[in-house]
Formats: sequence, structure tokens, C-alpha cells
Amino acid sequence: MQDVFAGALARLDTAAGFTKVDPEALQRLRQPKLMVEVSIPVRMDDGALKIFTGFRCRYDDTRGPAKGGIRFHQDVHPAEVRALAFWMTFKCAVVGLPFGGGKGGVIVDPHTLSKAELERLSRGYIRAVAPFIGPDTDVPAPDVNTNALIMAWMMDEYSTITGSRQPGVITGKPVSLGGSVGRDDATARGAFYCLQELEKKLKWDSTQQPKTVAVQGFGNAGEHFAKFVSEAGYKVVAISDSRAGLYNPAGIDVMKAIAAKTATHHVKPIGQPGEKTISNAELLELQVDLLAPAAVESVITPDNVERVKASVIIELANGPVTSDADGVLNKRGTVVVPDILANAGGVTVSYFEWTQNKSGFYWTLEEVHTRLRQVMSREFAAVYDLAMARSIDLRTAAYAHALGRLGAGLAAFGTKKTFKE
Ligand code: NAD
Repeated sequence: MQDVFAGALARLDTAAGFTKVDPEALQRLRQPKLMVEVSIPVRMDDGALKIFTGFRCRYDDTRGPAKGGIRFHQDVHPAEVRALAFWMTFKCAVVGLPFGGGKGGVIVDPHTLSKAELERLSRGYIRAVAPFIGPDTDVPAPDVNTNALIMAWMMDEYSTITGSRQPGVITGKPVSLGGSVGRDDATARGAFYCLQELEKKLKWDSTQQPKTVAVQGFGNAGEHFAKFVSEAGYKVVAISDSRAGLYNPAGIDVMKAIAAKTATHHVKPIGQPGEKTISNAELLELQVDLLAPAAVESVITPDNVERVKASVIIELANGPVTSDADGVLNKRGTVVVPDILANAGGVTVSYFEWTQNKSGFYWTLEEVHTRLRQVMSREFAAVYDLAMARSIDLRTAAYAHALGRLGAGLAAFGTKKTFKE
């Protein structure tokens, strides 16, 4: 399997050919500014001491404080943390947020911990990385296996360390502790706004003849996206989770599927005529108009890309297509709305949360939705227009668009950081 960080750099190199950027700026974007590994001692419920390993990467903070989630997973690896922090750097730049990119993680299977152990680990992680984060330096958020409650513990721990309340140190908090309304479905909503812009370009009218959709991953991003598209008249024919998928050519009742998933924690048959179970591999290869990978990275690779038939792919997951599979999709004319644009709605509403925390003035849901649409529509148009003007794919255009902003920021700092003549 291709190394995810090497794949990320390959896309940087491709995009560099389509924007004016100082070669020294490119050189600086090839490695993170800061990568720390920390050990986190945790007293377990049985009295034993266990030491966990964690990471925090501040990839780049040229455009503002670094921004990126904290992942709790047994497979967390420094190369993955670095790649995720790189993607956050470009994601924040592509939608014009005043943030850089960061990411963190702890090597742990959180499902093996009690709630009290999880709280001690979360607080221990913050004590270990406290010198490297802060509302104006690096602002974490939830990622895989971390949630609003964990963000609340982390914010509380950081506030205790600094001796003052610091809601702006972390986003994705519960609304009762300074979280923003509209953060829960923001990633899917942002992707849906991109789709609505794309519909106009492709002259798709889903009210005439319903377009078919397959969604891989039925969690926060996938579930909400399936709901938005089905409400808009699309026919969702396949959904899946890590265990299995459900296929129904006549269309899945998405609200029923969400209710079944909520009740059982799994995607399951819901008793509609014509439905059958399918594997994740089969789902990716279905003859559909729109494929939405919303689970994990590296699911479309040189091994299966020839069999992926969707005419449009909207990447809700981070890194679902490996860079060595891009060429086949581009050659075939598959329209891929890339992760750094398609799933940027989440970080955009995190930015709204941070802004609200800093000002102490809280917005309505309508204000959040209106501003999110403004950001997504504006930046989708900029990326699409660049792609058309340069005859390049949307991914390369998105990277070039972001790189233009990052390069301008690096140049505007002048010679102070490099002592360049
Ligand atoms: P989640 O944990 O809520 O849901 C993930 C879903 O994917 C679950 O249904 C899980 O069963 C399924 N899954 C896991 N491994 C799978 C596999 N190998 N094959 C098929 N399905 C699998 O996570 P989420 O928050 O919805 O995140 C999903 C993706 O979206 C991730 O790549 C994440 O980085 C990205 N993303 C999420 C947000 C956000 O705000 N939630 C923002 C930006 C990007």
C-alpha cells in the first residue's frame, strides 16, 4: 500500500506546476514545523500503571493557529498523523480559513477502556501536549473515536493548567460548554453544498430522473450526507459500515436505515423489498451516478480503481483515493470533488466555534448554515473555475488554489524566518 504521506507530497508536486509559488515555500511545506511524541502515564481502574504513546503535529501555522483533530486508535502512526496534519493545512487554506494545519493521536483502542480510564487518558494527553497547543497556537478537535465529551474534558484540563477558562483551545465541544450549533452535521452539509454547486455545472436535475448514490461508511459524515441527498431527491441505493453493506436498486429508506443503525450500531437489512447485503468492495464498484466514500483512507487504489464506475466521487473521508489511482479516474473523466474541499465544512464550523468562543457572542443555527454555504459555494466556484481555466482535475485545482494562499502567506512573512537576502 502506498505511504499516505508520500501520496500527500505527490499531490503537492503536481499542483505546484499550476500556481506561482516560491520554490522555497514549497520546500518548507514538505515537512512539519513541529512533531512531538509524548508518553502518557495512566492509572488504570485495577491500580496498574499503563503508559500510552501520543503525538501532536503542527504541520504549518503560516496562515494562523494550527487546526486539526485528535484520533484515538490502535493503528495511530507518526506518518499518518503527519499526512493528516498536511491535509488539514491545505484544507484550511482551500476554504480560506485563518488557520494552519495540525493533527494528534494516541495509540489506544478506546473501546478497551472504562469511561474513567478514558477521561484520565484524555486529560493526560492534554497535560503532555499543553506546551504545544493553545487558542492562538494550535487548536485540536475531535477525530476518529474522540467526541464532544472528550473535548470537554480536554478543555477543562487545559483551563486548569493555565488557570483561566479557555474554550477556544479546542473545538467540537458540547454546545452547553461553548460548542457551536450546527457542528454535528457540518461535514456532510458542506459536501452537500458542494454537490449543489456541481449539479449546476453538470446540469444535473435530480427531480427529473433521480440520480443514484452509494455511501461507504455510515457514521457522522456518511449518515448525514445520505439524509441530505435523499431529501434532495437522489436515490440512495447502497450504504455500508465496517462490517457490511446494504444494497437496494429501488432505493433505501435512509431515515429507516439511520434508525436501525442507531438501535443496533450496525448497518442492517431494514425489511424493504429488493434489498440485499453487499461487501464494501462491491459497494465501491456499483454502477451509480455518485459515490461518496465516507469511511477511511486508501479505499480506492490501483487494485480496484479500474472497476469504480461512478461518474462523480465526493470524498467525505480524508484520503479515500490514493494518489497513484488519480490518473485512471482523471483519464476516464470521473469528476472527483477532493477531500480537502468536499469535507471542509467540518473545520469551517469549527472555525465558527472558535470565533464565537473568542468573541463570547453565539450565533443561531441559521447564521451558521448561511455562512457555511457562503464559504463552500465561494471556494467551490474558485476551484472549479481554476480547473476549467487550466484544464486540470478538481483535486489539482484545489491544491493549487490552497498553495497560492499558503505561498502568499509564507512570502508575506519576509525574510525573518529564513534570513533570506
Ligand atoms: P465515524 O466514526 O462517525 O463513522 C465512520 C463510519 O465508517 C462508520 O460507519 C464505520 O463503521 C465505517 N467504517 C470504518 N471502517 C470502515 C471500512 N474499512 N470500510 C467501510 N466502512 C468503514 O467517522 P466520521 O466522523 O463519519 O468520519 C468518516 C471519515 O470522514 C473519516 O475519514 C474522517 O476523517 C472524515 N471526516 C470527518 C469529519 C467530521 O466532522 N466527522 C470531518 C472531516 C473529515
